Amino acid sequence: MNDHGDERDEIRRFWSRLGLPGLVDVHTHFMPERVLRKVWEYFDALGPLTGGLEWPITYREEETERAGILREFGVRAFTSMLYPHKPGMARWLNDWAVDFARRTPDCLHTATLFPEPGVEAYVREAVEAGARVFKAHVQVGAYDPADELLRPAWGVLAEAGIPVVIHCGSGPAPGKHTGPEPIARVLAQHPRLRLIVAHLGMPEYEEFLDLAERYGEVRLDTTMAFTDFSEGFMPFPRRALPRLAGLGDRILLGSDFPNIPYPYAHQLHALERLGLGEDWLRAVCHDNGAKLFGL
Ligand SMILES: [Zn+2]
Repeated sequence: MNDHGDERDEIRRFWSRLGLPGLVDVHTHFMPERVLRKVWEYFDALGPLTGGLEWPITYREEETERAGILREFGVRAFTSMLYPHKPGMARWLNDWAVDFARRTPDCLHTATLFPEPGVEAYVREAVEAGARVFKAHVQVGAYDPADELLRPAWGVLAEAGIPVVIHCGSGPAPGKHTGPEPIARVLAQHPRLRLIVAHLGMPEYEEFLDLAERYGEVRLDTTMAFTDFSEGFMPFPRRALPRLAGLGDRILLGSDFPNIPYPYAHQLHALERLGLGEDWLRAVCHDNGAKLFGL
């Protein structure tokens, strides 16, 4: 057992009060243990991509315990967001993810990609192996998402209707290719690609809302948005709240578990205090994800 019992009760009260069967969280990180340790070391050392912020990781348990914590919280389905920072790594990560999904039935089988020769082939293989969601990290990978090498891979994913959670906003720190402009170029070529803009596009919230309003298959995840932590340095503009309400069927709960500097419940309360109502919360915290993934 872990010591997150009080939090478990709080979270279960949150979704049962809404009449939900649990939560669907599209943005959680599981990856090979030594890669995850490296990520934690990076946050501990306040690497440049953290924006120099104190980032104490809340959930440092072993892998099976971490999955167990999500289950205790009542997260019905989650993901294993993993991503390469260099060529030659994606295929290996994808192999690991097949195995993880096999031993973790409530994890939506996740895969990743990188602009490199062979990407179309291994993306196709991952789709055939049952991948249900992809993760792309433009900031860490430091690549242009509109890179010619990726074009056929995006085509495969658009055609298969497989969602891609993409970290493409310039938070917590900008990268060479972050921001809405490269994503606009990808969508111009693949208008039906099911991109899920991670972190609600933080801090370019409004520009990414523009893209979601323009392209009907674009969605956004809530990961870290609206929390005290993020509001402190990249606040969501209040004037855009009605647009969040308008896109209520395309906003999905994401948390960044376990790499978060606050308890999981805080993400849920941060959504609740937006005041967009219970229907909106039900859609965001469960129903939109359940529908997208056919749960
Ligand atoms: Zn993340």
